[in-house]
Amino acid sequence: MINYFMAAVFSIPIGSFLNVLIFRLPRKESIIWPRSCCPECGQVLKIQDLIPLINYIRLKGKCRYCRKSINLQYPLVEILTVILFVLVFHKWGLSAQLMEGCIFTAILLVASFTDINAGIIPDNLTYPGILTGLVLACVSLNLGNALWGAGIFGGVFFIIASLTNGGMGGGDIKLAVLIGTYTGIQGAVIVFILSSILAGIWVLILFCQGKANRKTKIKFGPFLAISAWLGWMYKPEIITAYWQLLK
Ligand SMILES: [Zn+2]
Repeated sequence: MINYFMAAVFSIPIGSFLNVLIFRLPRKESIIWPRSCCPECGQVLKIQDLIPLINYIRLKGKCRYCRKSINLQYPLVEILTVILFVLVFHKWGLSAQLMEGCIFTAILLVASFTDINAGIIPDNLTYPGILTGLVLACVSLNLGNALWGAGIFGGVFFIIASLTNGGMGGGDIKLAVLIGTYTGIQGAVIVFILSSILAGIWVLILFCQGKANRKTKIKFGPFLAISAWLGWMYKPEIITAYWQLLK
């Protein structure tokens, strides 16, 4: 129990840092300097303000200085970070996979939210992300599989992007390459199928609500990220479930 509590406490400041990345990476701003400030009043935040989750509860969702409402996304990203990191810890314990899982989770969270907010998955996220995937694959002696995953998955997305004439962005292709370095070729197949199903369901929901038509472009990044996380975490379980479904 104490281990789970420690994992959660360790995750909160990381979630707070991911909020900074989500805001600044698409704007090509430094992620270290200047210090974080309130987006409404510009007041530089003090150390005690840097954990929106805690402040959000204490100050009822308002900025301490200007009393304007804080975007719900800040605490949401922190809560998601805590939940996902604790799940990674629950699955892998204190191991090399724990580190790999936390890095991958962080990258996927940032990619999802930059895509939702700004409609882009920035290069200054995907390029370093691909590098971490390759380095981790080297360490775990899985480089061959990672390169195949990256090449094939990125290649498939490149072909889809070419065929749909911009229906799939460059950011999605680079995210697919990144995911391939982490999941390998077998995992990439799972991610591809899963993300297509999830995006399909989403389009169907929008369609039924009259919010989408044939020309509507959907942001594919979040579906790719959710599927990649599930595929990385639960690959054996997903494969077993699939075979049982076929029987
Ligand atoms: Zn403020």
